[in-house]
Amino acid sequence: MVQHVGIIGAGQMGNGIAHVFAIAGFDVLLSDTNPEALEKAIAKIKINLHRQVARNSITEEVSQAALDRIKTDISLKGFDKVDLAIEAATEKESVKIAIFKDLCPILKPEAILATNTSSISITRLASTTDRPEKFIGLHFMNPVPVMKLVELIRGIATSEETYQIAEKFIKRIDKISANSEDFPAFIVNRLLLPMINEAIYTLYEGVGSVEAIDKAMRLGANHPMGPLQLADFIGLDTCLSIMQVLYEGLADTKYRPCPLLVKYVEAGWIGQKVGRGFYDYRGDEPIPTR
Ligand code: NAD
Repeated sequence: MVQHVGIIGAGQMGNGIAHVFAIAGFDVLLSDTNPEALEKAIAKIKINLHRQVARNSITEEVSQAALDRIKTDISLKGFDKVDLAIEAATEKESVKIAIFKDLCPILKPEAILATNTSSISITRLASTTDRPEKFIGLHFMNPVPVMKLVELIRGIATSEETYQIAEKFIKRIDKISANSEDFPAFIVNRLLLPMINEAIYTLYEGVGSVEAIDKAMRLGANHPMGPLQLADFIGLDTCLSIMQVLYEGLADTKYRPCPLLVKYVEAGWIGQKVGRGFYDYRGDEPIPTR
């Protein structure tokens, strides 16, 4: 049975994944090579737990107990105790493969290894580990404490037992799974990212301003967020990586990343997490940067 969960990468997704497992009573070890990311993650988890207490969706005791269950570390030392390791580091294949190389010798032989990748082949990542049959794609949605869905993706070698264990712990953390086959970007991002990329082309070609494009999709298509605001929320670096995986993986020019997206990433304006993307978040109100 899965009780002890280790998470590698304490960014936007890692902190949310730690949050939902801790609330559900799992012991959580959150690891990141950047100590500042760990500090920020704990601060963010505290804010989100307080918000849940204020809304009466959890009690103060549950919130405190969840926080007490989360340990942090800049190394992978404690991963010898985990039953499930979830990789949620930067969306770059080389980064993920390097993590698995360090992690696998530490893990118990029976531990399940999952990746939160948004787009990279589960089969290919699994083949770089010592446990392809215990390797699975577990694609959480952002923000993790709020969004109900987890996409579950089997690699070619993932065993039925691993899949069933994953379905069980997804239920325990009060999420709902949808099965996706292992093709570039799976289901949600195969549909969502081409729309976001097209919104960036719409901006690039001068069809509309940032404000007009987002307003049009909020009020005209009833989307809760405009596509450019959503791109900033996901992270433009992650958006670009996903488009590159779609473009290369499906060998179809319809997925080519918009040059303006590339330009924003080159500038380091990668969205909300750094304070600037299609909007500037450094003041009281977000201001469009185009
Ligand atoms: P992020 O940039 O917020 O965080 C990534 C974290 O990984 C950083 O804190 C970084 O220090 C850490 N990291 C990098 N290399 C590492 C290493 N070798 N060891 C340990 N930690 C390392 O990114 P994110 O938005 O949290 O995305 C993480 C993963 O989740 C990516 O695979 C992404 O595709 C996926 N994802 C993102 C979203 C989203 O909306 N942002 C949604 C679903 C899935």
